[in-house]
Amino acid sequence: GFNCGIVGLPNVGKSTLFNALTNAGIGAENFPFCTIEPNAGVVAVPDPRQDKLAEIVKPERVVATTMEFIDIAGIVAGASKGEGLGNKFLANIRETDAIAHVVRCFDDDNVIHVANGVNPAADIEVINTELALADLEAVDKALNRYAKAAKGQDKHAMAMKAVLEKIQPHLNEAKPLRSFGLDKDELLLLKEINLLTLKPTMYIANVGEDGFENNPHLDVVTKIAAEEKSVVVPICNKLEADIAELDGEDKAEFLAEMGMEEPGLNRVIRAGYQLLGLQTYFTAGVKEVRAWTIKIGATAPQAAGVIHTDFEKGFIRAETIAYDDFVEYKGEQGAKNAGKSRKEGKEYVVKDGDVLHFLFNV
Ligand code: GDP
Repeated sequence: GFNCGIVGLPNVGKSTLFNALTNAGIGAENFPFCTIEPNAGVVAVPDPRQDKLAEIVKPERVVATTMEFIDIAGIVAGASKGEGLGNKFLANIRETDAIAHVVRCFDDDNVIHVANGVNPAADIEVINTELALADLEAVDKALNRYAKAAKGQDKHAMAMKAVLEKIQPHLNEAKPLRSFGLDKDELLLLKEINLLTLKPTMYIANVGEDGFENNPHLDVVTKIAAEEKSVVVPICNKLEADIAELDGEDKAEFLAEMGMEEPGLNRVIRAGYQLLGLQTYFTAGVKEVRAWTIKIGATAPQAAGVIHTDFEKGFIRAETIAYDDFVEYKGEQGAKNAGKSRKEGKEYVVKDGDVLHFLFNV
């Protein structure tokens, strides 16, 4: 599966967010064959489309697709130098696919701020600096390795050396690489050393209950994010923690009282899913309507492989109905009658929301 690591300074609301996510999420008992670390939470990706499909198909069950959030506590100034178990936490971030950076945007005198005073710009800079310095160390090491090989005219080593030398000064200024503007080939080369500041990143602005509007802290985060083309999700983690404790009727009532259509957590989950470059296709049978996760750009056989590797190996074709057609013509038969069911082959790039039925050799 794909995961998103939650980072941020101490006392900004990371644990509150993580606990809300795991409370609302799918308990570890549902994953008997996986080892789920205590700092990992698996959450269902909320998607109203699967409920719409279920209304039409009336299956025995509906299964959402999932993604994972990892709580990475403990980044403080000096982490890249090993301060406060820094190296361990940086190693944890290295294993994540994307980063959710929680920034404190609420004022509360009862909650101590680690650096005295709520200052999102300074907080963001502390974290980004530590990540950039950790990257600088990785780049320096790689440069040492490749400089020797490059002398022997090794093509790959020469290309690596060139790109490493290009990014080194940027990191030296403690700036994240995601704002550097590297091209596709350079990014491909750099995959090998798995740099932290190249990971897709979003900012979670943790605001107070009434802090969604006219909040200068939030404006600061929005401005910084815009400059580096990152996403911001404003959310009140404390409120979300309360919502996540409730079930069924109680939850619906509470949300209605707050004037919310759904928990704000859903926006975090969806933003994480998008950040990871993921999309969803559906299978819709009488036994089960189910959402499946694929990378954007995945072909039909690759999509089939998410269900079972045999589906990918023996792939023949995918009977494909676009989500909107499936809904408009009230199911598979209706869509077929209207000529909206397509037979797609090995080259087909699956579209978000496609309802697929695979044919394969065993
Ligand atoms: P972490 O160190 O980043 O994991 O921060 P925590 O989640 O433990 O939160 C630190 C403190 O801030 C706790 O006392 C939380 O109850 C409080 N807190 C978290 N989110 C909010 C919020 O949105 N508003 C207010 N007023 N307090 C919050």
